[in-house]
Amino acid sequence: MSSSDPERPGVRLLLHPGKEKSLRLRHPWVFAGAIARVEGEAVPGGTADILDVAGRFLARGYYLPGSPLAARVWTWRDEPIGADFFRRRLTAALARRRLAGLASAAAPGAESAGTDCCRLVNAEADGLPGVTVDAYGPYLVLQLSTRGAAAVLPLLVPVLAEVFQPRGIYGRTDAESAAREGLTPVDGVLWGEAPPEPLSIREHGLTFAVSLAGGQKTGFFLDQRDNRRQFAQALAGLAATLGRPPVLLNAFAYTGGFAVHAAAVCPGIEIVNLDSSPEALALAERNLALNPEAAAQARLETVTGDAFVLLRRFRDANRSFDAIILDPPKFAHARAQIVGACRGYKDINLLACKLLRPGGLLATFSCSGLVSRELFQKVVFDAALDAGREARILARLTAAPDHPVLLSFPEGDYLKGLLLTVE
Ligand code: SAH
Repeated sequence: MSSSDPERPGVRLLLHPGKEKSLRLRHPWVFAGAIARVEGEAVPGGTADILDVAGRFLARGYYLPGSPLAARVWTWRDEPIGADFFRRRLTAALARRRLAGLASAAAPGAESAGTDCCRLVNAEADGLPGVTVDAYGPYLVLQLSTRGAAAVLPLLVPVLAEVFQPRGIYGRTDAESAAREGLTPVDGVLWGEAPPEPLSIREHGLTFAVSLAGGQKTGFFLDQRDNRRQFAQALAGLAATLGRPPVLLNAFAYTGGFAVHAAAVCPGIEIVNLDSSPEALALAERNLALNPEAAAQARLETVTGDAFVLLRRFRDANRSFDAIILDPPKFAHARAQIVGACRGYKDINLLACKLLRPGGLLATFSCSGLVSRELFQKVVFDAALDAGREARILARLTAAPDHPVLLSFPEGDYLKGLLLTVE
């Protein structure tokens, strides 16, 4: 028996009295301070049993010695963490995507409601902490964010191929996790064919070019799929009231997802795509062109730089917009950053309220798991108040249903947004 054998853990983590409570509530994380004693020879990311003070089995997971988040749970049962375990987890994840109406998950490359891409594995929420799998047409992108997840890579890849039958599996490592975990970055083909670069995907009947090799995260922000469509529908309604094409500021545009959806239903729209990444903006321009019906009558302005600076510049130049999207990256990575993150959200939302014409639409998001919905709403309220504007919530937005949230793991409920009318 070896401590690095993921099927039969040789390591036992004994918790301090009372520290088993969150595990009994099925929360899948163990903080370093909860561990009283480690028995056996620990390998970073190796499988370990988690036991209460009396030595009773609580869970089996992986151990990350030296990390403040020291262990994550694979299973609540005494079962081997082998191919059969991953087969069961992936099959259950697939069944959940069928419930989300995403049949493409069942047959990679097939379209369901004009969509051929979805998140197949949403880490903790699908019982696979540190493991994210996105399907882009017939290709899978596997992103591992912990050493525990990286340790099972050789077991996981063949089972992914068997369960999802993709044409190829591409590996990506998030730079932030790699630095935190000391992970050796995985970037490249893990199994099967290399995907075309960029790859063409479909979302609600529209076409997007996605760079699996060079894009941010796994290449595309699938969590915003339904919000992009919902925002576009609201904007079409506003255009009907205005009796003219709207002027849209798509801030933190990435590859222009929101703008393409908006152009598809608002002929003659004027779009400003703003982002700090020139590569993303180049792809945003290409994405509009890939949808000729949307692109034909749209006017696109591309602005590269820091939104905090550029929104101020727009304000000083007295520019105004009928609609604004604020979809910034995660601002709060740790509890200590919550206050600073809220200051950032307040700043951009205040500027957006000032830039909006009366009756304008604001779609504003936070993907900081540590900032709650209530707190975010309060920050946006403060911003509207300071701008002297009256705002109403038309819709509370969240991640698309291929990003399930485990009730016992509310940290996974990271994406929150408000669709507002600002008078
Ligand atoms: N709305 C996009 C996703 C946005 S992801 C979509 O639907 O696909 C967040 C984006 O913010 C990234 O493209 C990143 O390049 C950009 N970004 C990060 N910091 C920024 C800053 N300070 N100013 C402008 N853009 C920034």
